[in-house]
Amino acid sequence: MSEVRNCAIDAPEACDVLVVGGGPAGSTVATLLARAGWSVTMLEKAAHPRFHIGESLLPMNMPILERLGVLEKVREIGVLKRGADFPVEGGRYNVFHFDHALRGSSDFAFQVKREEFDQILFEHAREAGVDARENTKVGKVEFGDDGRPVRVHATGPDGAYSLRPKLLVDATGRDTLLGGALKLKKRNDRHQSAAVFSHYRGVSRREGPDAGNITVYRHAHGWMWFIPLREDVMSIGAVCSPEYLKERGGDSEAFLMRTILSVPEAAERMAGAERVAPVHATGNYAYECTRMHGPGWLMVGDAYAFVDPMFSSGVFLAMHSAEQGAKAVDAALREPAREASIFKALQKEFDTGIDEFKWFIYRFTSPTMKHLFANPRDVIGVERAVVSMLAGDVFDARPVVWRLRIFRLIYSLTALSMVRTAVRNWFARRRQARMGFEGDTLQGAP
Ligand SMILES: Cc1cc2nc3c(=O)[nH]c(=O)nc-3n(C[C@H](O)[C@H](O)[C@H](O)COP(=O)(O)OP(=O)(O)OC[C@H]3O[C@@H](n4cnc5c(N)ncnc54)[C@H](O)[C@@H]3O)c2cc1C
Repeated sequence: MSEVRNCAIDAPEACDVLVVGGGPAGSTVATLLARAGWSVTMLEKAAHPRFHIGESLLPMNMPILERLGVLEKVREIGVLKRGADFPVEGGRYNVFHFDHALRGSSDFAFQVKREEFDQILFEHAREAGVDARENTKVGKVEFGDDGRPVRVHATGPDGAYSLRPKLLVDATGRDTLLGGALKLKKRNDRHQSAAVFSHYRGVSRREGPDAGNITVYRHAHGWMWFIPLREDVMSIGAVCSPEYLKERGGDSEAFLMRTILSVPEAAERMAGAERVAPVHATGNYAYECTRMHGPGWLMVGDAYAFVDPMFSSGVFLAMHSAEQGAKAVDAALREPAREASIFKALQKEFDTGIDEFKWFIYRFTSPTMKHLFANPRDVIGVERAVVSMLAGDVFDARPVVWRLRIFRLIYSLTALSMVRTAVRNWFARRRQARMGFEGDTLQGAP
């Protein structure tokens, strides 16, 4: 029988870095820090493989996977994604192919079942020397007078115990361990929506090289994704206003199907489809923390901020912030006196990049954006800059960013000419932002 540890009696375990959360952000930061020679413990409340939403990766994820050394393993479990489809009126698809990007080191990405992807990353961290423990939930974090975490309480299969890390990395995703404890989490009032989603078999795929693309359909109350996965599985989800979601009553399955069937092109692909997974719902999901760091701690991935998944940016942002976060933690451990300025610079770089996504997300359902996406024109590389943004190329990307500024100008001029519709749309969005809906956090075991 295993011994039950008593954290009141046991001295806390010491380590250089404690990573809480073993999703893509946690496994990435933990692997890189262990490789740099630090003693790293990673605690995950669930056990891999476990279900998670967020299955469409971005091309800018690929170099990170390569640097981690897992690209080939991910290729084995992935469906090749060459672009993103945005259907336009008349049954046509406007396809943004990643090989049209302005620059960048990858013109493809993968669609993955997250239970497989996350397990690969978690096991890879373990192989890199991380003390990676599953079924271990972190509860309370105690802080000293200087604001540094002094004791972190966890409960695992053998009972409760505590740890004393030199640095704590919060990678708890939407559970936002520190954002909640320190009251730093703020809901994003500019973009409040909810999502209902599931997996289906027998959904028809796009043809030829576009068969692995994500398709983003607009419906009357938001947008919808079709993500082709292996074994003939299609991940389908509807993102919608909280007001519309309330119409589902207790029947999420019928609600999701009704929403899919409301778009003729999507309905056509569903003939012969069969649901093969439970229907999940989540709500009020866009948020950010007011700070990414504090004395002795740093947040990475969704633990810091979450934007609408419209452009499939979540896993990339999680792994990018984790990779940059690992560099920052390594530097801060080597030069503790510079910790605050190192973390501040990291947050500035991350916030600047994420703002590029936010700008498009806030406007995606507007008639102006609909018009511009249906009629792309590559004036001085502006369309290719939009493709670069869709590929995730928004960090340290001056040639992309100045062209995105020109796109913003084109957007404003187009909006002026469509002003009446735009005003109506703005009032509707304001109304939606005030609505609320609570759902589960979709993060495996409690
Ligand atoms: C509806 C929807 C659709 C999405 N679609 C996409 C998409 O197509 N593409 C994309 O890239 N992203 C998508 N995302 C976003 C994506 O899911 C996340 O951005 C991504 O999973 C973030 O990774 P992470 O490592 O930060 O967090 P997570 O992947 O959530 O990992 C956090 C881990 O921490 C663990 N944990 C939490 N609390 C504790 C605790 N107290 N102690 C120990 N462990 C803990 C959890 O069990 C979990 O394993 C979508 C999100 C939603 C809601």
